[in-house]
Amino acid sequence: MAAPKVAVVGAGVIGLSTALCIVETCPSCSVTVLSDQFSPNTTSDVAAGMLIPHTYPGIPIHVQKQWFKETFTYLFAISNSAEASEAGIHLVSGWQVFKSTPKEELPFWSDAVLGFRPMSEAELQKFPQYQFGQAFTTLKCDCPPYLLWLEKRLKATGVQMYNRKVSDLWELHSDYDIVVNCTGIGAHQLVGDKKLFPVRGQVLKVYAPWVKNFIRDGDGLTYIYPGIHRVTLGGTREKESWSLSPDPVTTKDIFDRCCSLEPSLREAQDIKVKVGLRPSRQCVRLQREVLSQGGVKLPVVHNYGHGAGGFSVHRGTAKEAAHLLGECIAALQGSSSGAKL
Ligand code: FAD
Repeated sequence: MAAPKVAVVGAGVIGLSTALCIVETCPSCSVTVLSDQFSPNTTSDVAAGMLIPHTYPGIPIHVQKQWFKETFTYLFAISNSAEASEAGIHLVSGWQVFKSTPKEELPFWSDAVLGFRPMSEAELQKFPQYQFGQAFTTLKCDCPPYLLWLEKRLKATGVQMYNRKVSDLWELHSDYDIVVNCTGIGAHQLVGDKKLFPVRGQVLKVYAPWVKNFIRDGDGLTYIYPGIHRVTLGGTREKESWSLSPDPVTTKDIFDRCCSLEPSLREAQDIKVKVGLRPSRQCVRLQREVLSQGGVKLPVVHNYGHGAGGFSVHRGTAKEAAHLLGECIAALQGSSSGAKL
């Protein structure tokens, strides 16, 4: 079989990182990225980009941990290289605080981040309303620079990128041998996945360069995540809400909640409001499927549904998607040699 032609649909963190893993593991493939939006207009651009895993109820913990570790290792290497600033990847230390001691004092990812430990009494004094806390160092992606860095790497390897809305994956069958579906919440309409639902998130991106440590309420709702240029203040988790319009009442609420954790934020300037729809599902859909019409077949690899944790596991799931693509190629090669016999 000639070089397989692969279309990756979607240009958020999942589509771009999956395309990159495919190029790395299958250099003979001809890869094209098709997407109706690119950075800075994707959900991935809105994210805080912190590497703190979210738990997928439908996936074994050891698998989630493996995805997280692979992602951490990959980004840690970038953070230690001269690429770090262009890629927007940096280490950040801080605290996750709880109003009462959580059931699980050691989350499954505690040995995958750096220096995880209970907070000291002196540290806890900074948060008088909280009883318990964990201190650790993790990585943060500044999302738009990271997406641009991924795009740049893809273009350097000859990957083509086109602006295109795909209405039906089947429409790609005449031009591509294999399609990889990384459309995030777009998969709800594109493949009619009723298990996929939006969890709306509103965040503020503010100028507050004195804030250097992250602070996260253990309930996951209120957080302060410093990036290279801006601090992300969050947030909301509104299940089944499709609204992309910022809500001013929510903006004030987020700001007040964050100021109660870090009062100096009252001096923050240049507040920008962003909204994104987390592509949520009980489990990420990482799966092969073969579409078929009139005896013609189109292998598809799905990689979507990363919910609140797409940045935290993107490299791990991209590697797995590239592996599934390898299986599709092997199956295609088997069927084409079978046809010749
Ligand atoms: P997207 O970024 O939405 O990309 C989907 C792509 O598919 C887009 O390019 C879109 O244009 C394209 N597309 C869709 N349908 C079609 C179609 N029919 N035809 C062509 N193209 C199509 N995760 C973390 O790990 N850490 C965090 O700190 C974090 N913070 C977050 C904060 C907020 C407020 C939000 C909203 C999310 C946050 N997330 C975080 C989650 C993270 O943003 C997502 O898991 C991740 O961005 C999903 O990436 P994706 O590439 O699947 O989706």
